Amino acid sequence: MPQANSTHKVLFIIILLLSASCEKEKLPELQISAYETFLQEITSSDRYLVVPHRDLDKTNAPDKVIISIRHDMDNEFLDSKRMAMLEYKYNVVGSYYVLHTANYYGKTDLNFFSRNTPIASELLEIQDFYKHEVGLHNDLVTLQIVYNLNSVDFLKQELNYLRKNGLKMEGSTAHGSDFCYKYFYTNHYFWEGNTVSTGDFFKNWQTVPINNKLVTIQKAKSKDFFEYDGNLVKHDYFYADCFFENGKRWSVDMLNLDSIPIGKKVIILLHPQYWY
Ligand SMILES: [Zn+2]
Repeated sequence: MPQANSTHKVLFIIILLLSASCEKEKLPELQISAYETFLQEITSSDRYLVVPHRDLDKTNAPDKVIISIRHDMDNEFLDSKRMAMLEYKYNVVGSYYVLHTANYYGKTDLNFFSRNTPIASELLEIQDFYKHEVGLHNDLVTLQIVYNLNSVDFLKQELNYLRKNGLKMEGSTAHGSDFCYKYFYTNHYFWEGNTVSTGDFFKNWQTVPINNKLVTIQKAKSKDFFEYDGNLVKHDYFYADCFFENGKRWSVDMLNLDSIPIGKKVIILLHPQYWY
């Protein structure tokens, strides 16, 4: 079971490791009907308060269980939209993090990036029509070391484009790319202040050896670009659809909400593309 009060760093690494084991296609253990039942449960009782990630740190409700639902939009857009529509039906506000290296966002290649024209309007629908939060799923270290693009300039350019088109982009979460396992870094190392512990699997937090070169990771301050870092949002419980419990993939129907004391904060991380 995901631990209460675990340190965020350890948790972050666990998420990355487990994300790697997530298959790329839909998983029968993850049924959208179970998610709808979960949404019914949390909206039919005043014991629960659902807030987007941007509000989780500043929300305190001693008489409620506070829930925040994070969606990492890894490879598919339509599956995210389906979840956004379902949550809208129950007045639940989720947080959707758009992956800039995904094919639905654009084409990223060596020394090359081209954005898909309609992406801002597609994301605006999630934000403005379905009333969710939209943030960035950061693959910026990959962008630099694998694709040889200037990650700081890219971030400025894309945030400028997205915000000019009405997207608020208040927070970011780090993506666990397959390249992280090949070259032993995390995308969280893009942000200044994130270092590595002794024995950490993702040991390359300053430089990454690639193609017989040692590339120094470009870094920036998260607060220069975002209001919050989604990987550092405080919580008491963390559940994810890439966790396993007794050998079984975790899903929302395994969550015993009654066991969570009021006043506690719960993060649920979902990857919409895996859900049937
Ligand atoms: Zn991801």
